Amino acid sequence: MRREDLLVATPAGLCCPAGGFYIDPVRPVDKALITHAHSDHARAGHRAVLATLETLGLMQLRCGEDCAGTLQPIGYGEAVEINGVTVRFHPAGHVLGSAQISVERNGRRVVASGDYKNVADPTCAPFELVRCDLFITEATFGLPVFRHGDPAAETQKLLQSVALFPERAHLVGVYALGKAQRLIALLRQAGYTAPIYLHGALERLAQYYIARGIDLGALRLAREATKPELAGAIALCPPSAVKELWSRRFPDPVTSFASGWMRVRARARQRQIELPLVISDHADWDGLTATIAATGAGEVWVTHGEEDALVHWCVASGRQARPLRILGYGDEDEALEASSNDEPAS
Ligand SMILES: [Zn+2]
Ligand SMILES: [Zn+2]
Repeated sequence: MRREDLLVATPAGLCCPAGGFYIDPVRPVDKALITHAHSDHARAGHRAVLATLETLGLMQLRCGEDCAGTLQPIGYGEAVEINGVTVRFHPAGHVLGSAQISVERNGRRVVASGDYKNVADPTCAPFELVRCDLFITEATFGLPVFRHGDPAAETQKLLQSVALFPERAHLVGVYALGKAQRLIALLRQAGYTAPIYLHGALERLAQYYIARGIDLGALRLAREATKPELAGAIALCPPSAVKELWSRRFPDPVTSFASGWMRVRARARQRQIELPLVISDHADWDGLTATIAATGAGEVWVTHGEEDALVHWCVASGRQARPLRILGYGDEDEALEASSNDEPAS
């Protein structure tokens, strides 16, 4: 008899037919389980949503109180039965509240990881390894050239540049959810105690992290600061604002960008970034392959990013593997960059 498929790929996203739910659906559905609050995974308009408390809070913050019919929180490790299927959420180490979703029935376990990283991050619970039969992995940085290195060393590069140019402001492009708060926390871990200035678009999310107990130190809105106050300061903004009118308020800014893509020098040059910082919220090649191996999964499905290289690695190392061609992922955070090669450099 053919083995039952616990999850299947559909145009709306990963579906569990037995449980009657979807994971990170890209279209409105009756019941959605959501791994994390990045906009390509957490869309508005579902009838019922099951996610961690933080993911629900972030969704409401970003898409409104009425982003779904009902919102049900689930704690890490807690088991919930849905039509005879057991689901559990486990930390994914990607952003605050992010989870891998384990789906289990008749002794078979599938884990849909969402986006993840197996590297310490002071702003979210650490990635938890879950052994499984089928592992569904992202592949944003699924090429051997991607090795992110040590985020603390990248943070030191920024602090050294601030020490070297005390009259200039340092303007760092960051993704609004996850990277902004993590870079602030990394700076605090490195002993930097001065106020950090924010673009207005980053304020509410930073406040949410603080309300959830993440210490970010003194934060100020850049628009409320005078030009002399911004000399020698570090300011964070969405990546696009680094080169916009907004940046003119800063004295002779050093332009910086914190992303896994900064490993590629051409990308930094194209964006006219003086100080590229390789800090990523996605696993790098070593992280992806080590995690896949450690799950013990005999079968791997690969989604958004460099599917083919990772599928090839899986097959060459004796696993069954296939790419999941679900459209709609990768339009927020670092995954966005994969499809923006043609972006103008201005
Ligand atoms: Zn994400
Ligand atoms: Zn993603």
